[in-house]
Amino acid sequence: MDGGLILIAEDEPEIASLLQAYFEREGFRVVVAADGEIALQHHLMLRPDLVILDIKLPCRDGFEVLSELRRRGDTPVIMATALAEDLDKLSGLRLGADDYVVKPYNPLEVVARAKAVLRRGRNGSPQALRHDSLEVDLSLHVAYAVTGPEKVVIDLTLSEFRLLSHLIRTPLKVFSRAELLDTCLPESDALERTVDSHVSNLRRKLEKAGLPGYVIGVRGVGYRLSRP
Ligand code: CA
Repeated sequence: MDGGLILIAEDEPEIASLLQAYFEREGFRVVVAADGEIALQHHLMLRPDLVILDIKLPCRDGFEVLSELRRRGDTPVIMATALAEDLDKLSGLRLGADDYVVKPYNPLEVVARAKAVLRRGRNGSPQALRHDSLEVDLSLHVAYAVTGPEKVVIDLTLSEFRLLSHLIRTPLKVFSRAELLDTCLPESDALERTVDSHVSNLRRKLEKAGLPGYVIGVRGVGYRLSRP
């Protein structure tokens, strides 16, 4: 699949290649520019679908690059910065970044934001299911904890994500282990305790994200989401 071309303007090679790996894993193509001048050249030549733009860049900084990009058109831009004062400047200048991330960031979150920005551009509202402070975006394959002003990505394995999205489709319904195994873990070894171990990992991650008690075990039956 081709999610599109992402231009990563980032002068720290380790950050750039980590981010590149995460985007590629999600089916995007990636080109990296190590300074602002190269970023502008790549943008002109390659017409990326989205730009991840670090603010502290050699040659031309992220602010200059962004304003040039805006002169050229409306390519979506996500700004990356380590400095709070950059955020003030960004909002003050109203340069028109589509989103921003603060370093050190979780690459998963950057990818999730990029997908959200790209979707917004294409067709408006994402396909998200909400249960209290838990949100699952089925099309982006991302779960979020929404306990504060910012959504926080919960880093789940594919099996955990499938279990969670199955439960959240019908909140409060109790699903048997056998049903969860069939629908969520079809490639596993068909032991019902496999479900238990995935659920226990899922619970631990939800708890760590500030969402304790969201998945309830029903003795002798299976699992359901808690009441909000
Ligand atoms: Ca930098």
